[in-house]
Amino acid sequence: MPILNRAAELQGEVTAWRRHLHENPEILYDVEGTAAFVAEKLAAFGVDEIVTGIGRTGVVGIIRGKGGDGRTIGLRADMDALPLTELTGKDWASHTPGRMHACGHDGHTAMLLGAAKYLAETRNFSGNVAVIFQPAEEGGAGALAMIEDGLMERFKVDEVYGMHNMPGIPVGQFAIRKGGIMAAPDRFTITITGRGGHAAQPHKTIDPIFIGAQLVGSLQAIASRNSDPVRSVVLSVTRFDAGTTHNIIPDQAVLMGTVRTLSEEMRDLAENRIRQIVHGLVGAHAADATIDYERRCPVTVNHDQATQHAAAAATDVSGAANVDTEVDPSMAGEDFAFMLKRRPGAFIFIGNGDTAGLHNPHYDFDDEAIAYGVSYWIRLAEQRLGQ
Ligand SMILES: [Zn+2]
Ligand SMILES: [Zn+2]
Repeated sequence: MPILNRAAELQGEVTAWRRHLHENPEILYDVEGTAAFVAEKLAAFGVDEIVTGIGRTGVVGIIRGKGGDGRTIGLRADMDALPLTELTGKDWASHTPGRMHACGHDGHTAMLLGAAKYLAETRNFSGNVAVIFQPAEEGGAGALAMIEDGLMERFKVDEVYGMHNMPGIPVGQFAIRKGGIMAAPDRFTITITGRGGHAAQPHKTIDPIFIGAQLVGSLQAIASRNSDPVRSVVLSVTRFDAGTTHNIIPDQAVLMGTVRTLSEEMRDLAENRIRQIVHGLVGAHAADATIDYERRCPVTVNHDQATQHAAAAATDVSGAANVDTEVDPSMAGEDFAFMLKRRPGAFIFIGNGDTAGLHNPHYDFDDEAIAYGVSYWIRLAEQRLGQ
């Protein structure tokens, strides 16, 4: 079963929605215009229940199947854009400098609206489909805000699925894997406090730059010496602030960076080793350090059974040859991870062809992917809620 005919028919309409959203990007939780657009469309489709303002600006629509009561499948899209100035020059480019849909969430929102329109028209399932539109995916934990507002309990969500477009994968293809598919993108700030003084008299100081420089190298032992070589961890020191001029050794040096892991076990290991290495090294030099380690969204872990369900729906749409079920994980983070902590489900990549990479000012969602994405959501919902 290829793309659904009705999904292909809807492509023009969904493309128009996508380009409207692209012209009007909104950031983090401030997605009032986008949320209103979504709610208005859901109402026009005859969606049974529409709840706005969940997780501040999230929207949920409930579509009841004509087969009667049953389980509820959650399908989730994200609505927010990025603080970036668009350089595509497209006719539908952002109207607002400094804001841009550079991660394709405009495409995600439009595709889920397309699926909602079809599912509300046909209702060939038992139970309910919950279409979930979240704010603040880009670093704002919007998924967690919706969960804390009762998303799962209020709508009795049994399973939840997410989808992200992926440049570099051809349009018409899908990619997924069991287990960790996106990383936990944690961050750290290390403040080393020594004792400043004259640069000509280092013996009268405790030099935090000297210690910090060693730390940049020593922290790489976590990846190269402490981790099982077949388990991934990436640690990057991305900022090093210290000092004022040529002849002063400063009191303090501040290092910032990111740690990305694909399992909670590696995540714990990385944090523990950072603490040990920092305290050991500064102790050896009689300095002090504080570590601010911020755990952001968890590892996005696909559940085994749900991964099979997602792959089956994608295969239905595109054929087995176009569904990679062992894709390499991405070391980027994904807020949908919070939902997979609460309910079984899976996150899939949908090919977006050779557009520029995500978060790039030249990126633009490829509308040719729309019929595939809409068909995937429909197939998944109908398969999971088959009568
Ligand atoms: Zn993004
Ligand atoms: Zn994204």
